[in-house]
Amino acid sequence: MATFLRNEYIFGPIISRRLGRSLGVNITPLNRKVCSFNCIYCECGWNALASSANNFPTREEIKLALEDKLKEMKQEEQDFDSITFSGNGEPTLHPDFHNIIDDTIEIRNKLFPNVKITVLSNSTNLHKDSVVSALKKIENPILKIDSANIETLRKINQPTSKTFSIEKIVSGMKQFDGDFIMQTMFLKGEHNGNFIDNTSEEEVNGLIEVMRETRPRLIMIYPIDRETPAQSLVKLDKVEMLRLENMISKAGFNVVASGT
Ligand code: SF4
Repeated sequence: MATFLRNEYIFGPIISRRLGRSLGVNITPLNRKVCSFNCIYCECGWNALASSANNFPTREEIKLALEDKLKEMKQEEQDFDSITFSGNGEPTLHPDFHNIIDDTIEIRNKLFPNVKITVLSNSTNLHKDSVVSALKKIENPILKIDSANIETLRKINQPTSKTFSIEKIVSGMKQFDGDFIMQTMFLKGEHNGNFIDNTSEEEVNGLIEVMRETRPRLIMIYPIDRETPAQSLVKLDKVEMLRLENMISKAGFNVVASGT
């Protein structure tokens, strides 16, 4: 399959339907994926085997690369909407994540004070105080949960930790007092002989229960959009995405769906 591994720390800006003009920041290793999930739909492909090449870029390397890029954009009078942490895996796994966020806030305030900072996270590190406090400092913490059912979640996200639990994710999300964005990928298909479907009424009601507990200010839902490492997954059509959007909206939540 074609994968989308980044070979640079700063990329874009690219146009994002939800975030506008978005400058990407990749703080995971170049050309390698490092993640605490191994999602069957991940556009970066399957996780790389652990190796010494898993070295993360340093805080200083990221700071320098971001500052250089923002200075260049300032000089060229380029405008954009979001500095977005996403890349070859889970950004909160970087051991200096909280310091990198502090650096980013400092540089942003100096050069583009109106630009928002966004982090796309899979929510697996919300048990760490330093990660939660860093995410609370930014405008857009976007936290993933694809199912409230552990069996379904294991099939879709394939968490790498034996101690992974949905309860940990939910209690991590609660710490934001509703000031976060929840993100869910909806899909159907088959992988390794397992039937996968997180779009049933029971599944969506399970997610709505999580929303009731954690009160996200916005929910973003997506269908598969690109090639996936698991080959037998189905992209949901507009009608199905609208049905899911309606269910969540009727439960009283602010939801936006891609692919509608
Ligand atoms: S959490 Fe994101 S980066 Fe990690 S495996 Fe899933 S889709 Fe890929």
